[in-house]
Amino acid sequence: MPGMPNRSAEGRLVAEQTRVIYIYSLLSFLSLGVFGSLQILVEGNPWLGALELAGGFVAVLVMLGLRISRNVVLARNMLLLCILTFLIVMIATGGTAGTGIFWLFLFPVSAFFLAGKKGGLFWMAALIIAVIIFMILQAVSLVTIPYSFITLRQMLFTLLVITVGIYVYQQSRENMANETIKSQEASEEEKLKAETIIENIDEGVVGLNATGSIVMASRAAEHLLGWGPGGLIGKNFFEAVPMVDERGKIVKNIDRPMWLSLKEKQITKRPATYLRNDKTPLPVDITSKAIIIDGKVHGAIATFRDITEETAIDRAKSEFVTLASHQLRTPISAIAWMSELLLHGDAGKLKTDQADYIQQIYHSNKRMAALVDAMLTTSSLELGSLSIRPEPIDIPKVCRQILVQRLDALPADKVLHIKEHYDPSLPEISLDPNVVKTILQNLIANAFKYTNNNGAVTITIKQTNNDISGDSLLIEVADTGLGIPSNEQGKIFTKLFRAKNIKHKDTDGTGLGLYIVKTIAEYVGGKIWFTSEENKGSTFSVLLPLAEAQKKEETA
Ligand code: ADP
Repeated sequence: MPGMPNRSAEGRLVAEQTRVIYIYSLLSFLSLGVFGSLQILVEGNPWLGALELAGGFVAVLVMLGLRISRNVVLARNMLLLCILTFLIVMIATGGTAGTGIFWLFLFPVSAFFLAGKKGGLFWMAALIIAVIIFMILQAVSLVTIPYSFITLRQMLFTLLVITVGIYVYQQSRENMANETIKSQEASEEEKLKAETIIENIDEGVVGLNATGSIVMASRAAEHLLGWGPGGLIGKNFFEAVPMVDERGKIVKNIDRPMWLSLKEKQITKRPATYLRNDKTPLPVDITSKAIIIDGKVHGAIATFRDITEETAIDRAKSEFVTLASHQLRTPISAIAWMSELLLHGDAGKLKTDQADYIQQIYHSNKRMAALVDAMLTTSSLELGSLSIRPEPIDIPKVCRQILVQRLDALPADKVLHIKEHYDPSLPEISLDPNVVKTILQNLIANAFKYTNNNGAVTITIKQTNNDISGDSLLIEVADTGLGIPSNEQGKIFTKLFRAKNIKHKDTDGTGLGLYIVKTIAEYVGGKIWFTSEENKGSTFSVLLPLAEAQKKEETA
């Protein structure tokens, strides 16, 4: 709040001044009492002594007055007046044996401290004028005082130097204090502005510190996640706001965008589903980023948008595609069946032209069947309705079958060199056969399609184990083919994507294969990655957690 620091500084100043006024009054009372008594009893100056005692009495009155009225301004003016009077008496009388002059040097400090810069000048002017008057009166022999003209001139000069010194010092202190207040006000204002902006953003904004505790949550974030004002602050984000996958299974911290930003400085942007405070799902689109200062991660910030409506529309689309694909399967099977009957001569011997046309119908229909199958798999994955049934499978056998099918389907003039490396210790592994088949079929089909004549395709399958993924199956399909242009590699797993370097060569593709492989691998808790260089080849790797590990995870 602008102005707050001013008020508290003023309050502190008043308290300080009150304390100093009490100390000054007390000291004045004591010293005037002692000197007054000495004047009367020892020096034989009853009038001067009485005056000094009266001064001490005024100091007591100042203390009492301040205590009762709490009026610091009145008290300090009274006190300064009292000290000034005392000093004038000192000059006029010489104080005790002419040493009273030393008390004058206390006045600038008292005046400036008690009355401030301007007030201090005023009181110093009063003292200096009083001394000058004495000097003039002495010069014209109207009065006689115990100090010589030269002593008074030197004292006046010293007082002026002290006054200027204290004034300049106070001025610079004041400037510094003002600058501090201004910069405090400016940063308060900036903070307020930033807070107001964040508060009014429609998207949820959450800020975490380096340990994952929530240090800032916008109103929209609290509202979207079902928490009251300030309810999220101080909580561990990963515990207070869980994330679930398509099947409603809790997503591990290490796979969450904010975790990846905090631990690996990643900028992530992707859809996900948070669980609200009442455990209902909230589909969101998240962008998360690490807060890095001097190369060190100090926290992370995420903005997220409610995509419930988009998700509902996507779901409706997927449901429509599922329904349409199912419906299309029946006529496609009928066409395949009828074409086969015709080709086998069940309806009489066909002429060469007729057989060619039917053959073309048969092949186009096969492509259509593959496309419909891919669409059905895609929509089932998107709806989370693909059922996973792990069973013991002989992976090398499955892989060989797929290879044989693919080699049979190769054009007669295309030769590929196939290398297979199966881990000899590979046991019968419990995995969903459809998952394994879909992955192998797509990766092998791509390697065959996008590798030129005489190229090589190498398949490696082995069991691995590490701390993060546990017991897993690693499938690697490497080829010496066309590769993927480096500027397009980021989009390779997106739906319907086909790279420029193959589009004109192969018109058959759907751009759905890799999307399906990635989605299905992640669906069962695995992952996919690749390396590729244009015109040199590509290697696609898929890591699948073994069924036992999957089961354990689900139970946990
Ligand atoms: P498609 O039906 O086009 O093969 P995919 O989803 O399987 O669809 O692959 C998407 C795109 O990725 C392909 O069109 C191709 O550009 C590229 N791609 C996939 N695998 C390979 C590979 N082994 N070599 C070169 N490019 C590949």
